[in-house]
Amino acid sequence: MKLILLGAPGAGKGTVAKLLTAIDGSVQISTGDILRGAVQAGTDLGKEAEGFMKRGDLVPDSLIMGIMEKRLQEPDCEKGFLLDGFPRTIPQAEALKELLAKLNITLDMAVDIQVPRDVILDRLCTRRTCENPECQAIYNVKSNPPQKEGICDKCGSRVIQREDETEEAISHRLATYNEKTAPLIGFYEKEGLLFSVEALNSDAVVNGVKEKLGLS
Ligand code: ADP
Ligand code: ZN
Repeated sequence: MKLILLGAPGAGKGTVAKLLTAIDGSVQISTGDILRGAVQAGTDLGKEAEGFMKRGDLVPDSLIMGIMEKRLQEPDCEKGFLLDGFPRTIPQAEALKELLAKLNITLDMAVDIQVPRDVILDRLCTRRTCENPECQAIYNVKSNPPQKEGICDKCGSRVIQREDETEEAISHRLATYNEKTAPLIGFYEKEGLLFSVEALNSDAVVNGVKEKLGLS
């Protein structure tokens, strides 16, 4: 499947993407994971992106498009891909449209995951992430804590609160989402690609997607 996952930070895009990869071997492409990996590795890309990310601001479109143009041409994308956290602005969506046309790739749909704001806020404040850039497993102190406090079940690295998950950065990220990313819903509606799901858990979103794609 070739999908875009839309939704506010904390809507569950990453979790849904991971569940969907298990269905048909499509790869999850998370621009947030790629950028955090670059910051940790101290690459040029990481150095450019770091300040924007800490503040909860978006990284410039040109940097993101450079990443995605290369990433979408990697061989593992042939089976399908789930775009998680990209596009995030109308210019990125327009550039993606052009890029896909050039690469002869057709999207199945853009899935908008709608979650009430109070649920989002609660999830983001209680979210913890494995600090190993190769892993980045996600936990939740309330609903899904690691077995040993502060230690990743999968790789044994430390599980931390992300620097952009302080209350201040979270409310800034949500405001940025409303201003810059929410307009993509209208964009994909016009493209005839929009599929909206209102769901309180990721399994329900996955079932909706499977049904829509005729996979169940
Ligand atoms: P979220 O949980 O907010 O969806 P992500 O892991 O997707 O977080 O992204 C973390 C940060 O990385 C964003 O706040 C932003 O600074 C940067 N980022 C990720 N994807 C993009 C993108 N497509 N365009 C611009 N900035 C991005
Ligand atoms: Zn880990």
